Amino acid sequence: MGLARNTLLWISENRKLRQALPRYAFIRRAVSRFMPGEALADALRAAEELKPQLISTVFTHLGENVTDEPEARKDAEEYVDALHQIQRRGLDTHVSVKLTHLGLDLNEKACIDNLVAIVSEAKTVGNTVWIDMEQSLYVDRTLDIYKRVRKEFPNVGLCLQAYLYRTEKDLDGLLPYSPAIRFVKGAYKEPHSVAFKKKSDVDANFFMLSSTLMRHIRTGSKLVVGTHDTRLIASLQDKAAQLGLSNTDYEFHLLFGIQTSEQLRLAREGYRVRVLISYGSFWFPWYVRRLAERPANVWFVMRKMFSS
Ligand SMILES: Cc1cc2nc3c(=O)[nH]c(=O)nc-3n(C[C@H](O)[C@H](O)[C@H](O)COP(=O)(O)OP(=O)(O)OC[C@H]3O[C@@H](n4cnc5c(N)ncnc54)[C@H](O)[C@@H]3O)c2cc1C
Repeated sequence: MGLARNTLLWISENRKLRQALPRYAFIRRAVSRFMPGEALADALRAAEELKPQLISTVFTHLGENVTDEPEARKDAEEYVDALHQIQRRGLDTHVSVKLTHLGLDLNEKACIDNLVAIVSEAKTVGNTVWIDMEQSLYVDRTLDIYKRVRKEFPNVGLCLQAYLYRTEKDLDGLLPYSPAIRFVKGAYKEPHSVAFKKKSDVDANFFMLSSTLMRHIRTGSKLVVGTHDTRLIASLQDKAAQLGLSNTDYEFHLLFGIQTSEQLRLAREGYRVRVLISYGSFWFPWYVRRLAERPANVWFVMRKMFSS
């Protein structure tokens, strides 16, 4: 892992910097590149703007590692409110949640109750809820919670990270549930003992995992390719065609503001594309992970420091 990426991921987890740095105006200006605004209304507006381009969306209300149960409950209520607003506007917009935002660090049962409140409301309004994958110490509990909730609700999907050695085995254990899986490379600082470090190894694992799931699409599993890596996207499109899948048998999910031309190209070519839009005031750790994915982004922040 590069020094710059390592340092940025350390900053994203540092409690004092998480509080101090977002106060700087130039950092607030720079974050607007990756999120349309802090309010749900900003995310709704961005989703409405993407709709004519045939791009659907996923909303994430930013937050993680909440430290009290009433706050976790309030976060769940805010997701339920978002589901109602999405329905009222007729948007094709899923939601994606982090279990530590719903209280996983505090009380597992309360976290599951919060998740079920969101997923059951989503089922009522015909929507889907995705569960993000966080640091490796949460993977076992996240898989366990996904399996429990999936038994009752078909409208819940899970993110798996291709940088973890364990993901191949985790996918095997999920296949009997006909899961909906969003594969991503993985965004956290993980040790050599649990995660591939070389980009080529992560990419090869991503390709292998996605190809495996492609073989289960006809029996009810769903595949989401969550990457901006155009080479990986192209090789998975070839693989899907070899397996006789059509453009609409699986989806591509990308982040707001990243590889916008690729988002438009995929949508124009008839693929299902969703853009994940983040909103909320607790954006700092999430934002620094975006910088770590491409340390060249730091120069963009520096430029904002000197612009008015
Ligand atoms: C829809 C979605 C959901 C996600 N959910 C999770 C999750 O639940 N858990 C998790 O650990 N991670 C999650 N991630 C983040 C993911 O793990 C990667 O860190 C992130 O997507 C960057 O990897 P990449 O696949 O785009 O490939 P990379 O090889 O990192 O990037 C490929 C190319 O994309 C562009 N690019 C990538 N990132 C950026 C950036 N930040 N700024 C500018 N350009 C960029 C660059 O041109 C780069 O060369 C999610 C990503 C997406 C798209």
